[in-house]
Amino acid sequence: MTSLFRKEIGTLVFYLLAGFLAGWLFSHAAFGLFLGALLFIVKYLWQLGRLTQWLNQPEKEPPEAKGIWGEVFDGIYHYQRRQKSSQLHLKQILNRIQDSSQALRDGVVMIDGKGNLEWWNTAAEALLGLRSPSDLGYPITHLLREPSFVEYYESQSYQDPLMLASPLNEDRSLEFQVTLFGGNERLILVRDVTKMQRLEVMRQDFIANVSHELRTPLTVLSGYLETFSDHAENLPTKWQRGLTLMRQQSVRMQQLVEDLLTLSSLETSSFEAAIEPIAVPELIKAIKTDALALSDGKHSLVLEIDADLGVYGSEKELRSAFSNLVFNAVKYTPAGTEIALSWYQNAEGAYFEVKDKGQGIDPACLPHLTERFYRIDKGRSSSTGGTGLGLAIVKHVMLRHQGQLEMTSKQGVGSCFTCYFPLAKTALLTHQG
Ligand code: ADP
Repeated sequence: MTSLFRKEIGTLVFYLLAGFLAGWLFSHAAFGLFLGALLFIVKYLWQLGRLTQWLNQPEKEPPEAKGIWGEVFDGIYHYQRRQKSSQLHLKQILNRIQDSSQALRDGVVMIDGKGNLEWWNTAAEALLGLRSPSDLGYPITHLLREPSFVEYYESQSYQDPLMLASPLNEDRSLEFQVTLFGGNERLILVRDVTKMQRLEVMRQDFIANVSHELRTPLTVLSGYLETFSDHAENLPTKWQRGLTLMRQQSVRMQQLVEDLLTLSSLETSSFEAAIEPIAVPELIKAIKTDALALSDGKHSLVLEIDADLGVYGSEKELRSAFSNLVFNAVKYTPAGTEIALSWYQNAEGAYFEVKDKGQGIDPACLPHLTERFYRIDKGRSSSTGGTGLGLAIVKHVMLRHQGQLEMTSKQGVGSCFTCYFPLAKTALLTHQG
C-alpha cells in the first residue's frame, strides 16, 4: 500500500471520526457518521468532476490538487504527454514514408481489405492514370479492367510479377508486383520496364542474328573438314591430329549454333501446339533408338511406358527436350550402367522421367543446371560435345507446355530428371487397327 493511499484512508477515518464526534455532541452520532462519509464522497465526486472536465479539454494544464488526486492528475498528464510525443513521432515516420514513396519513380498503390484504392503516389498516377481524389475508394479492378490483370489480381498468388502494356500508352510495358499484407490488404508496385524489354528484345535478336549468320560459314568449314578427314591418310601425320581437332571443334560450334537458335526460337516464337495429341510413347521409343546409337551399346535403356498416354503440345519441342535429357544420361553416366525411361500419369498430371545410375550431381549445382552455359565439369562436358544449353532448352520447352522440369540427384546413387505436364495437357491416345 502506498503512503498516499494510506494518507487517503487516514483522511476518510478523520472525516468519519469528526462526523461521529460532532453528531455525538448533538446526540446524533449515527447521523454525524453518515454526514462525515457523505462529505468525503462529495469531495471525491468534486475531484472526479474536475477530472472529467479536464479530460474533455486535454490541451489545458491539469487542475491543481493535493494527495492522491494530485497524483492521479499528474499521472494522466504525463501519460498524455508521452502518448502525444509518440504519436507525433509516428506521424513524422508516416509522413517520411509517404514522402519517400511519393518521390519514387515506381508506382506504389495501397489497396484496403475490401479491394478498394486507399492511397497511391504520383508515379502511379502517371503510369496508371489514377486520379486523386476522385478514384479514392473505388475497386482497383474497376479502373484497371485488363482481363489478365484482373485474373492475376484475384489469383492471390503473386510469386511472379505480371507484365502488361500501360493502360495509357500501348507502347510502354509495365511490371506489376502485388504483395498481400495485414488482413487481406495489398500493396501494388508498378514499374515501367519498357527500356529493359527493348534491351531484352535486342539481346534476343542479336543472338538469333549472329547464330544465323554463323550457320552457313560453319557448314562450309565443317563440310570441307569432313572431306579432308576422309583423305587424312594422304596428309603428313603432323597435320592429321590438327585436322581431327578442327573437325571436332567445328562440330561443337555447329551444335552450339543450333542450340542457340533453338533457344532463341523458344524465346521469341509464339507457341504452336498440334491439334492432335502427341504420341509420346512412339516419340520415346524413337529417342531410345537414337540414345542406344549414341551410347554405342555401353548402356542399357529400360522403358516403362503408358502406351495410351499422350499430351497436347509441340512434337518438335518435346523431341528436343526429351532427347536432351536422355542423351545427357548417356553422356554423363559410366558405361555399363542402366538408364530407366518412364512415361506415366497420376492425379496431378503426366510425367516423363529419366533416371540414371551415374555419379549423381552435387546438390549445390542442381539449382544452376538450367542456366545457360552452366556446366559442372567443363572439360568433360566439352569432350562429350556438351554446349551447356541443353537443360536451358528443356526448361523453356516445359514452361511453354505449362509444365516444369524437376531434378533430383544423390551423389554416388544417380540422378532423376522429370518433365511434368499438368492434367489439362494430357490426352488419351486412340490406337488404329
Ligand atoms: P551440356 O550441353 O553441357 O550437356 P546441359 O545443360 O544439358 O549442358 O547440362 C548441364 C550440365 O549438367 C552438364 O554439363 C553436366 O555436367 C550436368 N548433367 C546433365 N545431366 C546429367 C546427368 N544425367 N548426370 C550427371 N550430370 C548431368
